[in-house]
Amino acid sequence: MSAGPGSEGAAVVALRGVDVSYAGSAGGPALQGVDLVVRAGERVALVGPSGAGKSTLLRLCTGAVRPDRGEVEVLGRSLSGLGAAELAAVRRRIGTIHQRLHLVGRLRVVHNVNAGRLGRWSTWEALSSLVRPRETQAARAALSRTGIADKLMARTDELSGGEQQRVALARVLVQDPDLVLADEPVSSLDPARADEVLRLLCETVATPSRALVVSLHDFDLAVRRCDRVVGLREGRVVFDRPAAEAGELREALYLLERG
Ligand code: ADP
Repeated sequence: MSAGPGSEGAAVVALRGVDVSYAGSAGGPALQGVDLVVRAGERVALVGPSGAGKSTLLRLCTGAVRPDRGEVEVLGRSLSGLGAAELAAVRRRIGTIHQRLHLVGRLRVVHNVNAGRLGRWSTWEALSSLVRPRETQAARAALSRTGIADKLMARTDELSGGEQQRVALARVLVQDPDLVLADEPVSSLDPARADEVLRLLCETVATPSRALVVSLHDFDLAVRRCDRVVGLREGRVVFDRPAAEAGELREALYLLERG
């Protein structure tokens, strides 16, 4: 489905007039006057040169970065007023994928996949699962969707880079989040594998109430797999268009890169 910027679905992410500056940063603000609404059902790609503010925008949505000015609303909650427990509850509904995968290499794959469940388990359940893995069926099913079901009990650091990427994806699949935020998740992959990973990410949010925001270097991939493409440059949103307008988008991208 393609829900454009003006559509009526519920806002999963809403940034209004957001400015962010990092303390001690020699450059200008990381984000300035950013307005962006991502609605339920949308898959939104962030594109733009390095340093444009893509990671900062994604980190705002988890509350890892606080705005100096403006409002950040995620999954219906304004993050500014939330205490630690309420913020943790919002974060449990957000799946994140980073370029660095944040897997524990010494542990078996099943434990890294089950890390996606930790938000729902008690401390006792989490600890006991390290001895006797819980919910192995769900972990195996998620690994099977990413194509490596046979690696369930393998040591994570014995897998190839591509396989580890699939483990990180399986972790998000078992988490089953309402919002997926992915920061350059495919930059180290060949084009075929990158396309497959993005397809799986889109599948994770295929329910109409969910959304994906993903920063991507590969513009063609962004247009092929996402509903909307948002261009950032020097901390500002310089275009925000449906992916179907690929021709216009390509011109906008040209301006974005050339300045
Ligand atoms: P992108 O993801 O598009 O490469 P970032 O959001 O990482 O952009 O960075 C935006 C700007 O903020 C850049 O100028 C970058 O140097 C700066 N920046 C990012 N993270 C930090 C940080 N932790 N401390 C200081 N400056 C930062």
